[in-house]
Amino acid sequence: NGEASEVAIPTPNGVVYIGEHHPIVTVAGPCSVENEEMIIETARRVKAAGAQFLRGGAFKPRTSPYAFQGHGESALGLLAAAREATGLGIITELMDASDLEPLAEIADVIQIGARNMQNFSLLKKVGAQDKPILLKRGMAATIEDWLMAAEYILAAGNPNVILCERGIRTFDRQYARNTLDLSAIPVLRTLTHLPIMIDPSHGTGRAEYVPSMAMASIAAGTDSLMIEVHPNPKKALSDGPQSLTPDAFDQLMRDLAIVGKPL
Ligand code: PEP
Ligand code: MN
Repeated sequence: NGEASEVAIPTPNGVVYIGEHHPIVTVAGPCSVENEEMIIETARRVKAAGAQFLRGGAFKPRTSPYAFQGHGESALGLLAAAREATGLGIITELMDASDLEPLAEIADVIQIGARNMQNFSLLKKVGAQDKPILLKRGMAATIEDWLMAAEYILAAGNPNVILCERGIRTFDRQYARNTLDLSAIPVLRTLTHLPIMIDPSHGTGRAEYVPSMAMASIAAGTDSLMIEVHPNPKKALSDGPQSLTPDAFDQLMRDLAIVGKPL
């Protein structure tokens, strides 16, 4: 299954297409929505650099229960404000089906995170509603597991699924948080028409490795990129070490324009 070779996403700035026959789409923003000022500032900066979507977590799946869990529903309001201020589409993660309604009200794309890739009841729920789904690859998921998870969403009636590679478990965590599986790009092309996104931020866990992996992703044929950007990565409440500053993101977007399909 998986008939859609592109996903058409209405945003305040117009319909954005993600797919093989369209320009590369970039999603950028902080790991977590921390406060109004930082999300609006980040939104303005990533938009100026050429991003089409703002990302930011309201509900955060953290390894430790004592780590910052996200501001929850109040952060959804801040994302709505950033959308209003910039016209960027919004991508944010749904962790619990009970938050679907308020989240779908402000999100243009609903993210299902790596840790919920095989939460089948959640997949059925987001398959039974209209918003496009960004399905991140589970950290220990095979390509087959991942495609079957996508199939749950498609089978429930939602054809608009984007597959996001975000790194798989590595045995060498001394140097990288995960192993970014760029071979997933050509492999998926032989197996599915669903559009592809690469997330080199979670894929490497280190800001200094993000630009080269982003460029490699475009060279390998990705349809879209997800990049974590924070106005002050050292102070970030989550994923600071892998977050680019707005200046670094701006430079990356200039460099990416040289590599592949026009941005
Ligand atoms: C995220 O995008 O911030 C995130 C938690 O991603 P993943 O589910 O890939 O770990
Ligand atoms: Mn993150």
